[in-house]
Amino acid sequence: MSINIAIDGPAGAGKSTIARRAAARLGFIYVDTGALYRTVALFCTRRGLKAEEEIGAALPEAEISLRFADGVQHVILNGEDVSELIRTPEISMAASTIAAIGTVRAYLFDLQQQIAKTENILMDGRDIGTVVLPQADLKIFLTADAEERARRRHKELAEKPDCPSYEAILADIIQRDEQDRTRAVAPLKQAEDAVLVDTTRLSLDESVEAVLDLCKERLGL
Ligand code: C5P
Repeated sequence: MSINIAIDGPAGAGKSTIARRAAARLGFIYVDTGALYRTVALFCTRRGLKAEEEIGAALPEAEISLRFADGVQHVILNGEDVSELIRTPEISMAASTIAAIGTVRAYLFDLQQQIAKTENILMDGRDIGTVVLPQADLKIFLTADAEERARRRHKELAEKPDCPSYEAILADIIQRDEQDRTRAVAPLKQAEDAVLVDTTRLSLDESVEAVLDLCKERLGL
């Protein structure tokens, strides 16, 4: 039996960085499920698909798979490695929009469950503890204040050309949180049996240690 750890939480809470580091320390595979929704968003954007019915009808033509090379996840769309292309603010917002569509979630559900069945994984997303892996061995809900999340994202993007303003990033985060929390299907929420880790006042290292402490305490890892 493989060990499954679910980490959910809002955009920009540091889930991916924290989960990646914790997974490396545990020797687990880190699965970033947001990349799957981003890939569907890229597919729809490229084809100019907007309406739910047309997205549902075209989905079978989007063959999506994950590959792991040296602990790094690559997402493949119809044979093309799109791992970098999906990291734009436009795709972030589009991903949050298409993630509210039931057929899209159903399409990605099996893929996520299959990976969890065969490997020791640390999987991050919005509905991993509530919907995808309700039997996960450990569930963590990782969060931080919206202002702190926007500050971190702004710092991260500061080096890049066309870095959006702090205010624009904060507005994006608040809008995505709202969309993710209020959607009818698989909304972002803390599972009843999830442990809350608030990283607002924790450094990255402290956040990783908090997650690893829980793994040790609860799973003896
Ligand atoms: O985690 P990331 O920011 O890459 O996710 C992009 C979007 O995909 C989120 O805003 C969310 O709407 C959606 N998502 C989801 N369920 C997941 C992972 C991501 O709805 N398990």
